[in-house]
Amino acid sequence: MAEGSALEPPFWKRKTLGEMTREEWESLCDGCGKCCLLKLEDWDTAEVSYTSIACRGLDLQTCRCKFYSRRKSEVHDCIVLTPKMVEKFTWLPGTCAYRLIAEGKDLEDWHPLVSGDPESVHAAGISVRGRATPEKAAGDELEDFIVDWPK
Ligand code: SF4
Ligand code: SF4
Repeated sequence: MAEGSALEPPFWKRKTLGEMTREEWESLCDGCGKCCLLKLEDWDTAEVSYTSIACRGLDLQTCRCKFYSRRKSEVHDCIVLTPKMVEKFTWLPGTCAYRLIAEGKDLEDWHPLVSGDPESVHAAGISVRGRATPEKAAGDELEDFIVDWPK
């Protein structure tokens, strides 16, 4: 069921990221899996490029982390998002709910909190389902896998 009612706007319209409960914060993730693609950062410009290669922790069907609760210990460079990092969210995909809310924007119709359906992010073609490269299948040259679609 979608969030909110005729009487009260949904929490993401009423609260800042820092005001959200843990449950609300977690539910904001649309499950696209795009932030779990390997990325390259330009040393000079700090520009981030996404590759199609998925972190080994990403389930390519559900687009969710296989070991979410212990992700930092499994993958040491996994970035655990927190409200304090809001100003650094510019590297996140433009569709990411954390970035959208941080920039004062609303969620899209396909977001599961709006649609009430966790599959809507996949049906809308927003997630990595069907287009991510398994880490094992990738070669050494990450540059060969740079793609624009995650942004
Ligand atoms: S990009 Fe944002 S919405 Fe998508 S999986 Fe990552 S944190 Fe969740
Ligand atoms: S370990 Fe981190 S980057 Fe890797 S799939 Fe899990 S949440 Fe994503």
